Amino acid sequence: RTVYLNGAFLPENEAHLSIFDRGFLFGDGIYEVTAVLDGKLIDSALHMARLERSVGEIGGRLPITTDEIVAIEKRLVEENQLTEGLVYLQYTRGAEDRNFLYSENLQPTLVLFTQAKTLEHVAAVEKGLKVRSMPDQRWARRDIKSVCLLSQVLAKRAAKAEGFDEAWLLENGVVTEGASSTAYIVTRDGRIVTRANSQATLPGCTRLAVLELAREEGLVLEERPFSVEEAQAAAEAWLTSASNFIVSVTNVDGTVIGDGTPGPMFRRLRTLYMENARRTAI
Ligand code: PLP
Repeated sequence: RTVYLNGAFLPENEAHLSIFDRGFLFGDGIYEVTAVLDGKLIDSALHMARLERSVGEIGGRLPITTDEIVAIEKRLVEENQLTEGLVYLQYTRGAEDRNFLYSENLQPTLVLFTQAKTLEHVAAVEKGLKVRSMPDQRWARRDIKSVCLLSQVLAKRAAKAEGFDEAWLLENGVVTEGASSTAYIVTRDGRIVTRANSQATLPGCTRLAVLELAREEGLVLEERPFSVEEAQAAAEAWLTSASNFIVSVTNVDGTVIGDGTPGPMFRRLRTLYMENARRTAI
């Protein structure tokens, strides 16, 4: 693979970072993951807007413009002949001798690489996913897409160990979000429920796109938290993320949701989302 590191396109085994990089030492960095379908970037503008916001929230500054970042992403996709998969981007505050405080003139680190992966035609679309609830042990600024992902790593590992596909994180008796996805339910009277954006969750780019499509369809949205019990009694449950698009959740903590198969509202929005993703891909 060709990867990007601080202005250079390099073979992956020639891209080297300092051991003093603050991303490595402090988790002092931000990331983004953008899907690629048919060699094109999905929801790119939304990811670039969130990247700028996250970097701004930690008092950082991107070393190049988001237009330049998109051009780098396109070049990596082309050079690596990626038709379907992900582009990963990581920004860190840069490298200097270890100190919690950082120099204001530090040169940031910017790394991008591609990952080939089947995203669209995966078993989960037909089968749905099983989620396990567990305490949300993350910090209080989850709206920032920070590279500090230790709680998510542990939550996903614990879910997997029990045969589940994703963790749903709980705080004050309600679901905040998935370990790497936004969580939804559909009530028995057909209302789509997901949390409003706040510092408690990451504002999902896929969420933004899906909710916009749902609004255009005239579907009823309720932006509020829900409990595991409400999810278990719901007609449908879903999750969204750049790497899953939208998939159905058919089991929460061992309780089957609805009839245990991906429901009609899910199918409708999955179709709409995939059409819209392709139409707006760049
Ligand atoms: N919530 C968390 C905690 C995530 O890590 C992610 C994606 O990785 C999402 C939600 C979904 O965001 P997006 O749709 O932008 O991928």
